[in-house]
Amino acid sequence: MTKWVYTFGNGAAEGRALDHEMLGGKGANLAEMCSLGLPVPPGLTITADACSAYYRDGRRIADEVRAQVLSGIASIEAVTGRRFGAGNSPLLLSVRSGARVSMPGMMDTVLNLGLNDETVQALGHDAGDARFAWDSYRRFIQMYADVVMGLDNEVFEEILEDEKARHGYEYDTEMTASEWQHVVHLYKAVLEEELGEEFPQDPQVQLWGAVGAVFSSWMSARAVTYRHLHNIPESWGTAINIQAMVFGNLGNSSATGVAFTRNPSTGEKSLYGEFLVNAQGEDVVAGIRTPQSITEEARISSGSDRPSMEKLMPEAFKEFVAICDRLEAHYLDMQDIEFTIERGTLWMLQTRSGKRSTRAAMKIAVDMVDEKMITEEQAVLRIEPSSLDQLLHPTIDPRVAREVIGTGLPASPGAASGEIVFTAEEAVMAEEEGRKVILLRVETSPEDIHGMHAAEGILTTRGGMTSHAAVVARGMGIPCVVGAGTMRIDLRNERLIGMGVTLKKGDIITIDGSAGQVLKGEVPMVQPALSGDFGRIMEWADRVRRMTVRTNADTPADARAARSFGAEGIGLCRTEHMFFEGERIHVMREMILAEDEAGRRTALDRLLPMQREDFESLFNVMHGLPVTIRLLDPPLHEFLPKTDEEIADVAAAMNMDATALRQRVDALHEFNPMLGHRGCRLAISYPEIVEMQARAIFEAAVQAARETGAAVVPEIMVPLVGLRSELDYVKERIDAIARDVMTEADMRIDYLVGTMIELPRAALRAHIIAEAAEFFSFGTNDLTQTTFGISRDDASAFIPTYQRKGIIEHDPFISLDFDGVGELIRIATERGRRTRADMKLGICGEHGGDPASIHFCEGIGLDYVSCSPFRVPIARLAAAQAAIKAR
Ligand code: ADP
Ligand code: MG
Ligand code: MG
Repeated sequence: MTKWVYTFGNGAAEGRALDHEMLGGKGANLAEMCSLGLPVPPGLTITADACSAYYRDGRRIADEVRAQVLSGIASIEAVTGRRFGAGNSPLLLSVRSGARVSMPGMMDTVLNLGLNDETVQALGHDAGDARFAWDSYRRFIQMYADVVMGLDNEVFEEILEDEKARHGYEYDTEMTASEWQHVVHLYKAVLEEELGEEFPQDPQVQLWGAVGAVFSSWMSARAVTYRHLHNIPESWGTAINIQAMVFGNLGNSSATGVAFTRNPSTGEKSLYGEFLVNAQGEDVVAGIRTPQSITEEARISSGSDRPSMEKLMPEAFKEFVAICDRLEAHYLDMQDIEFTIERGTLWMLQTRSGKRSTRAAMKIAVDMVDEKMITEEQAVLRIEPSSLDQLLHPTIDPRVAREVIGTGLPASPGAASGEIVFTAEEAVMAEEEGRKVILLRVETSPEDIHGMHAAEGILTTRGGMTSHAAVVARGMGIPCVVGAGTMRIDLRNERLIGMGVTLKKGDIITIDGSAGQVLKGEVPMVQPALSGDFGRIMEWADRVRRMTVRTNADTPADARAARSFGAEGIGLCRTEHMFFEGERIHVMREMILAEDEAGRRTALDRLLPMQREDFESLFNVMHGLPVTIRLLDPPLHEFLPKTDEEIADVAAAMNMDATALRQRVDALHEFNPMLGHRGCRLAISYPEIVEMQARAIFEAAVQAARETGAAVVPEIMVPLVGLRSELDYVKERIDAIARDVMTEADMRIDYLVGTMIELPRAALRAHIIAEAAEFFSFGTNDLTQTTFGISRDDASAFIPTYQRKGIIEHDPFISLDFDGVGELIRIATERGRRTRADMKLGICGEHGGDPASIHFCEGIGLDYVSCSPFRVPIARLAAAQAAIKAR
């Protein structure tokens, strides 16, 4: 017999040794907390396997599962001394979803299950509080109707609002027992009217209805979207936790709350959380009332006059703080905790590793090293490399005056400017049009996720630090301000009413997610300093890293930026821009249009000093670090005018006949330029171009060595080599120029000549090419194009379809195709090294900054990765993690 159900409670847990795969994150941690002896209401977990079985059986809960659940409930009854659905002390249950990884707000939970017209009376008697019993019943009907019966919440909200208004109440908590009883009556009536069926009175029916609904929610549209965005496999399924209810809505000595053991936004080591007196779980996240602070310190700094939990419930607070410390010490990580206090008694309902901003992740990791909780290497492994992007985001220039039009909570750090839009759809549309927007919502819900992704920043007028908007924005690394109660959204007229201003859709605002401010217009920003915690993490990372990290930089400005991010050389300097800028394009065109070699050489002589200067300043910035320069790569027609208008202009400027120019342009036209007359093919047709470039490089090297005293070792890279004879031909020209320049300058220059591996033939013949090449650099953009036979520029027409239809998982231009392209890299690496053991190997395609691809590079033993300047820190960290994991 398969064991589908594991119980926990009373200091023991059947599933303690099991992992998150079987029990889901929530279930595994409930079991763990139970085993640690913490106060956890008893319960049971139905395994994720049962979810898969449910779908295999055509959405049926198997008899074996039912039987095990019932026997699990019997043991909850034994621990609590209550009976499910009967007797003087009825047992109420919560039915909670819990997948392997947390999916905030994605799956649905039902509370207070087991209530009906009879048990509600018994519950009221038992607790001596009829108001509480009816409050619980109306909550149950509303949740159950929504989650299980599919009746929209709104009808209930409306009834409740009407009732409150009728009595002149502002808050739910003012309702009396008989008023709640009346609400229950109205709820049941509207439910019958809308659905044509009665609210189920039989607790067994309620139970299986809820279990089926939680399993079914795994395939709900929003869960599917979330999984898609986060690469979570559908096959995992969700576990279910069924647990005895504890009540935060049992009067003023009861409460419910959520807390982080450290501040999830700044990482500061102070308990950070919110709670609500006389409330149940969902009230905190839903933003029905504004929650209160847990600690006095937080209350004071938020300027609130509503008492903290520390002040109101000192005993429970003390116990809670001790448990938080215990959980941190146990899990060795910052925890995100959900709890309830029932008449002064504390109950733990959930713990998990808390989501946090990157800044917080850095601070927490560094602090935990200082607190001797984790090692430096563990700290390095804790930071998600691609999340560093957040820190590289600009923040508002501290020197500018701020025109604040609203304030809220600083939910996710960084600043962003954009046009305001009021719906997720508009945000998506704007992104497609290349416009930057700030998404404005009263509060967000999972349906808004795609719009949140598309926005530069998110602003809500309601909700706390643990609201949906806050949690999701932090996860995405998007600046976010929540609960900006000083502002009002007028949805009908698409207006935002702030302090002294009314803005309309399309107006520009700036939000500061670190300060919780909303500013008018666009505001100057500054780049963050990469010191402090960031610096220490990177220092530890660099200590364990094996591969070098270089940058792809064409200009001194790029090179300087990359060096400040820690680049250790240039892995790819593309030289084409040196032919485009300013005056040069004219000279370049003269060269292309020249009748013969002599004419071309005259033009090239004029380009030489300009290129030399470019290389000189690049070498000066790099100060002796290696610099790989790629010879001219694109086809020549890219430098010529295209439209009739442009041709006429250029012809006039060059004193040339427009028709003749048109003919020359037509003659250079190619059907498939990507596979055309480019790369080393140009160098072979027009060796004078290579000779000019080589001369510029060597003369600049001489100059830079004299100026900086640090000798540069230029690495000259020949593009698009497929045949060894191609490389031989070009290399001969380079070597000849090197000899000339050395004689002229009377100075020795060390240099390397190598090739880019970007054709399958080159990879396969690497052992032969390596006889001539002193280094290989994998140009994975072109290698991906040529391996797949897919043009990168045309791929967007069908790659998304491929992904949607499950033909491929990842876009191979974003994440390296390990199986195919990777295999060619592996082959070239092995064969190249067989010929030349000390050959330098690197990668310079877009993938050089992609953490998964960097892991691959570590695995096959490349010497360096090269990526765009802003990705250098990401690559340093990813390379360090790869090195640690490779041990
Ligand atoms: P989510 O994954 O959306 O956080 P949970 O299953 O954690 O869903 O339930 C949401 C909230 O419901 C919890 O934070 C808690 O406040 C409340 N809750 C869940 N189970 C119980 C229980 N047994 N007793 C009291 N409250 C509960
Ligand atoms: Mg939920
Ligand atoms: Mg929860």
